[in-house]
Amino acid sequence: METYDLHMHTHRCHHASGDSEDYVTVAAKKEVAIVGITDHTPLPDHRWPEIRMHLNELPDYVESIQKARDHHPDLTVLSGMECEYEQDYHAFFEDELLNRHCLDYLIGSVHFYRNSGAWAKVHGGIQKPSHLVAYATQMIATMESGLFAFIAHPDLFGNSYLTWDKNTESCTRDILQAAVSLKMPLEINGYGFRKESVDTPQGRRPMYPWEPFWSIAAEYPIQVVVNSDAHRPEDVLENISDGWNLAKKYSLESFDISPLLSVRTTPSN
Ligand SMILES: [Zn+2]
Ligand SMILES: [Zn+2]
Repeated sequence: METYDLHMHTHRCHHASGDSEDYVTVAAKKEVAIVGITDHTPLPDHRWPEIRMHLNELPDYVESIQKARDHHPDLTVLSGMECEYEQDYHAFFEDELLNRHCLDYLIGSVHFYRNSGAWAKVHGGIQKPSHLVAYATQMIATMESGLFAFIAHPDLFGNSYLTWDKNTESCTRDILQAAVSLKMPLEINGYGFRKESVDTPQGRRPMYPWEPFWSIAAEYPIQVVVNSDAHRPEDVLENISDGWNLAKKYSLESFDISPLLSVRTTPSN
């Protein structure tokens, strides 16, 4: 199988460095055959502006990917976006990102969830069983939208919910069951391995990937995709082998990348 890395950011999201071409240049050096640029999506109502590009940067973002593609004809360069799902954004994702700007794919992510009506952060904000239930609900709605090629870091709740218990297990099973019925691949995210580990009553571990999630995943016929989630060009491909080792340990099946590629390999004129 050709090497791929389908999740990376650019400086536009305010917490990453480099532009599309910088990432693709590193990908070429590391002999990654297929690379996908997927910055945090702009939102029509400018919600959570501190971690995403502004709407008026969208054309420039799309152009930066095309430029990187033109300069590296030896690689397959896909265009994408990492998105928080909300029913109100559905038309924007579909009409603007997929149809108008012809992005190759979208990643569904849950960085925020509705906690008793108000939006709360997943980073630092999943502490109670009720938070896990709300997190899973948000993730399942994201999958059900039908807009996304895969779901990023489904085990992100491990960053602040520290102890594996029956609540994490039931959240995990709800997510896995939905992924099976909706045929939605799940991502083992390399960025979690690079972040500072957390001290927990059950020992020190990465915030995510959280291993018990993936050991339970072995009971479900799901597919996985492993990405670096690079926020610096030098991090392209980083920790992907750690992710694949985890996938191998639990005999998780690799996702089929060909539907993404068929868009790109069809000549556009
Ligand atoms: Zn990010
Ligand atoms: Zn990301």
